[in-house]
Amino acid sequence: MKVTRSQELFERASKLMPGGVNSPVRAFRSVGRTPFFVEKAKGAYLYDADGNRYLDYVCSWGPGILGHAYPSVIEAVQKACENGLTFGAPTEKEVLLAELVQKCVPSMEMMRLVNSGTEAVMSAVRVARGFTGREKIIKFIGCYHGHSDGLLVKAGSGLMTGSIPDSAGVPAGYAAATLLADYNDRESVRRLMEENSGEVACIVVEPVAANMGVVPPEDGFLEFLRDIADENGSLLIFDEVITGFRLGLDGAQGYYGVRPDLSTFGKIVGGGMPLAAYGGRRDVMSCIAPCGSVYQAGTLSGNPIAVTAGIETLKILMAHPEIYNEIDRAAARLEKAYRDIGLMVNRVGSLLSPFFTEEKVWDYKSVLTADTAAFAEYFSWMLEHGIYVAPSQFEAMFVSAAHTEGMIEQTCECVREYGEKLKRR
Ligand code: PMP
Repeated sequence: MKVTRSQELFERASKLMPGGVNSPVRAFRSVGRTPFFVEKAKGAYLYDADGNRYLDYVCSWGPGILGHAYPSVIEAVQKACENGLTFGAPTEKEVLLAELVQKCVPSMEMMRLVNSGTEAVMSAVRVARGFTGREKIIKFIGCYHGHSDGLLVKAGSGLMTGSIPDSAGVPAGYAAATLLADYNDRESVRRLMEENSGEVACIVVEPVAANMGVVPPEDGFLEFLRDIADENGSLLIFDEVITGFRLGLDGAQGYYGVRPDLSTFGKIVGGGMPLAAYGGRRDVMSCIAPCGSVYQAGTLSGNPIAVTAGIETLKILMAHPEIYNEIDRAAARLEKAYRDIGLMVNRVGSLLSPFFTEEKVWDYKSVLTADTAAFAEYFSWMLEHGIYVAPSQFEAMFVSAAHTEGMIEQTCECVREYGEKLKRR
């Protein structure tokens, strides 16, 4: 595999950007490799600067549910560009996107469009604090909600990959307002609620944890969170940045039938452009300026090009809901291939993670039993066979509508060959 051009670009990039990248996990540090630099993408494939082709199971970390460069999305975006890139004034398309989101996700009675998942969750937490007049929040160890200060405590994703339990630079006061519970452990939530009675503004949770690898909620866990939030006058926030429009048009809240007070969406809702949304109960969202005293704003919020990509993507998903069955089935085939070679696999819909452990993976502690060195070796094997999975044990694998049966079979075959290689040891 030729990598000279990527290597050269990485050297140049490393002089200018920390780790040579604009987001840590892209640097491939934990898998001990130089990252490839992407030149273009089409359907299920990425093409790098050296002309190598990769079957892509990262899908830009989730947005690419239709596959890359989906023709009607690209066309709509190109057309929208001709009318100007940003106005800083309202447009009809923002209303259209919000209407589509609300149609799919009824709990989104009112919403705001922002530029990233980070901004969406940061803002939702601020609104929860403003609405309740309380300061503390409950988050779960190993869940990731973007890189705003108060949410970077014991977070998953790149922090887990890089073994950074708590980011430096976060004021102790911020961190102290973030109470840490264990995912799937009701008692830990109950205890925090008791010890901080009347002080918890919200519980924020990934309804399916997907930033410590995929860890599904145990039966009744989300319902329990709904109930305990209500009993304590706290709001329940579902961070659906990954699960939204991925587990179905109505996200994890539809999948599990639990209605949160506020939700956050990112990735798919922006169709591959920098766009995210947060919203929920009308009475809560009415606290936001100019209606109320919680401030949140953005020069590029509701950007017309990003909104166009979001609208086109949601329209396609709404017109072809069978996509969800197809990608779920494809993911189930991958799940079986990984199980057959002895790995633990968690899967919810088209989100899955094979874990290099023999233990059942159901919480943060069991996630940590995974062998990251074994994962790194597997990652390299797949990459060298033209298959790109996330470069970390603690991230999800994403399947898109562009992954054909043949591509899935090729991937399963590669996994089986890897299993054979492991057996020969
Ligand atoms: N919440 C969740 C559940 C996420 O997975 C992510 C990013 N992977 C974020 C929030 C932050 O989104 P962004 O990277 O767009 O800021």
